[in-house]
Amino acid sequence: MIFEKYILPGIMFDTFRDVTPEFLAERGIKFLISDIDNTLVTYDDPVPTPEVSEWFDRMAAAGVRVAFVSNNGKERVDLFNRDLGFVSYAKAGKPKTKYIAAAMRDMGATADNTALLGDQLLTDAAAGARAGLLSIIVPPIKDKRSLFFRFKRWLEKPYLKKYNKLHKSDR
Ligand SMILES: [Mg+2]
Repeated sequence: MIFEKYILPGIMFDTFRDVTPEFLAERGIKFLISDIDNTLVTYDDPVPTPEVSEWFDRMAAAGVRVAFVSNNGKERVDLFNRDLGFVSYAKAGKPKTKYIAAAMRDMGATADNTALLGDQLLTDAAAGARAGLLSIIVPPIKDKRSLFFRFKRWLEKPYLKKYNKLHKSDR
């Protein structure tokens, strides 16, 4: 499969809430670069939901620093981040790694102690892999039902299948 190693998730969880401080500590992860849309909240949530806020609190309490690197616009990202003040970059153009590198630089993070969290293989998992980070992928919270989004999901299918095959023995 073309680009396989760049698109396969490092690990998949059912929801961001399953990404626990304990899991990250086991892997030596101290910095988490997170996507926003469909990873933490839907496109319809302008600010963090209570469950997202609670998850941020758990991360902070465990000393895990979170940053946002989003392909969405600055207005959306700034509003979401307004009360948090995390390192954040909008219009990041993932799978490009420019702003992932920038966020890591801002935080003093290294590839060894950083993971990338997102919902899309072709942008998030690919960006994580290219930056040399562990990529953690969750299913999109609520897909936009547009043809474009359905097409993107269709493109991801063989990679998800492959991931499931590779990790069957983990369960
Ligand atoms: Mg997303």
